[in-house]
Amino acid sequence: MKRVAVIGGGFSGLSAACYLGRAGYDVTVYEKNSSPGGRARVLERDGFRFDMGPTFYWMPDIFENFFNDFDKKAADYYRLIKLDPGYEIYFGPGNSVKVSADVDKTIETFESIEPGSGEFLRKFLKSAEFNYRVAIDKVVEKPGKSVFELIMPQTAARVGQFAESLSSHVRKHIKDDRLRQILEFPVLFLGAKPSKTPLFYCFMNYADMMLGTWHIEGGMYGLVDAMVKIAESYNVKIVTNAHVNKIITEGSKAVGVSWSNTDDIRSQHNSFSDEADFVIASADYHFAETLLEPSKRNYSEKYWSGRVFAPSAMLYYVAFDKKLDGLAHHTLFFDADFIEHSETIYDTPRWPNKPLFYGSFPSVTDPSLAPAGKECAIFLIPVAAGLKDTPELRENYFLQILERVEQNTGIKLSDSVIFKESYSVKDFTEDYHAYKGNAYGLSNILLQTAFLKPKMQNRHLSNLLYAGQLTVPGPGVPPALISGKIAAGIAKKKLKNG
Ligand SMILES: Cc1cc2nc3c(=O)[nH]c(=O)nc-3n(C[C@H](O)[C@H](O)[C@H](O)COP(=O)(O)OP(=O)(O)OC[C@H]3O[C@@H](n4cnc5c(N)ncnc54)[C@H](O)[C@@H]3O)c2cc1C
Repeated sequence: MKRVAVIGGGFSGLSAACYLGRAGYDVTVYEKNSSPGGRARVLERDGFRFDMGPTFYWMPDIFENFFNDFDKKAADYYRLIKLDPGYEIYFGPGNSVKVSADVDKTIETFESIEPGSGEFLRKFLKSAEFNYRVAIDKVVEKPGKSVFELIMPQTAARVGQFAESLSSHVRKHIKDDRLRQILEFPVLFLGAKPSKTPLFYCFMNYADMMLGTWHIEGGMYGLVDAMVKIAESYNVKIVTNAHVNKIITEGSKAVGVSWSNTDDIRSQHNSFSDEADFVIASADYHFAETLLEPSKRNYSEKYWSGRVFAPSAMLYYVAFDKKLDGLAHHTLFFDADFIEHSETIYDTPRWPNKPLFYGSFPSVTDPSLAPAGKECAIFLIPVAAGLKDTPELRENYFLQILERVEQNTGIKLSDSVIFKESYSVKDFTEDYHAYKGNAYGLSNILLQTAFLKPKMQNRHLSNLLYAGQLTVPGPGVPPALISGKIAAGIAKKKLKNG
């Protein structure tokens, strides 16, 4: 039986492993951390449970498609709760807008704030739906080999939407700054400024307002558990604490991987070598290339330093000694200047003075995540990749966040903190080998879209592919699942042909 080595047990690696396991290959996933899931790990402490990475379950159809490929459905593994509101955005003290699970209500909200904007939103979402169908049905599973993958009647009809930014379109039609920011928010998941994101990506607005925001009961790790179950049902071996230190090559082939226990990475004599007929590297692309000698890499350091990276993040996992009544499961704090903040991420990387941030209070919906009468919270500030963080910075931003949540919502919480843990740039680099500590991979700006992304195929080794958020289709959990599927599809063809 042919052997496949998958480096990295994040969503893309697990996805590739599931598809290749089902195809009958002998698959081993090597994950350096003590649990699979990649950036979606869990922090458990004193009865509180925090998702350390993704919290927004968007595009439920993509997850369903994944499970259907294995004759399963999401409901076989976890219960999904549709959040209502999907989220709430604060623009200042007592000044907030809720994005309802019912799009008609959101349209009414828009109309009540700015006459005419409800009608605009209805048309905008219709167009966004068309783009969603094109993106999901026709484009997203393409391997990103050439521009021709994008040329089809449906994209030709939308060519102008690649030249215009989402921001300029929205700002032409909507005057109210809050409504503008609500429509610009979804593309922030793509890791670029809305002013640099092509209008075509408004399919994210369709995902947001029409498909809705969901929560897995028990947290996002339920998806990791489900994928592990599927993988193991096809005899995939998932080896944790396995730090791959080299992709072994012979001529134009990868022939195996060398790895050591993560706790012993410095002692070479504890290294193991496993042979493989095919290798899929789903660890951060830049890092994965360092497992090869320089002449076998696709890209130089200069190439990587010239890429536009999606943000890193300053994160806090906080336990509160009381229920925080009145807060939405997902609450965004946009009571600061977005342009000033995004300039510190993309133009002149530096720590922001007054950043926008996001708060997730999942135990509001899901009591299993905190002890009775208590609440857990996750706060996330997007920051530039590559910044140096210090304990003082972490403390200062935390105090600022608590103060701003109190000012905006009128809910007192600073006197109820039981504990907090922080996580930032340095941790992303150490824990995931993330280039410059990025959290979300590469920005989806026009010049880094589809066939312009780092290629899946290694140019020098015919049986080495890359998967994950730095290659196609891009950042986010649904794209990571698809990335693994695309890589597995290419691998299957190549393994079959020799
Ligand atoms: C804080 C945060 C919030 C997010 N929020 C959302 C959200 O709400 N919704 C959403 O859809 N997406 C969200 N994302 C993005 C999403 O989580 C990622 O795009 C996705 O998880 C990436 O999966 P991946 O498989 O490409 O990479 P990873 O998850 O990074 O997996 C790669 C794996 O490779 C392992 N690895 C690295 N080096 C080695 C080595 N030498 N040997 C063995 N293993 C190695 C790493 O430990 C890691 O487990 C968020 C990300 C972060 C960080």
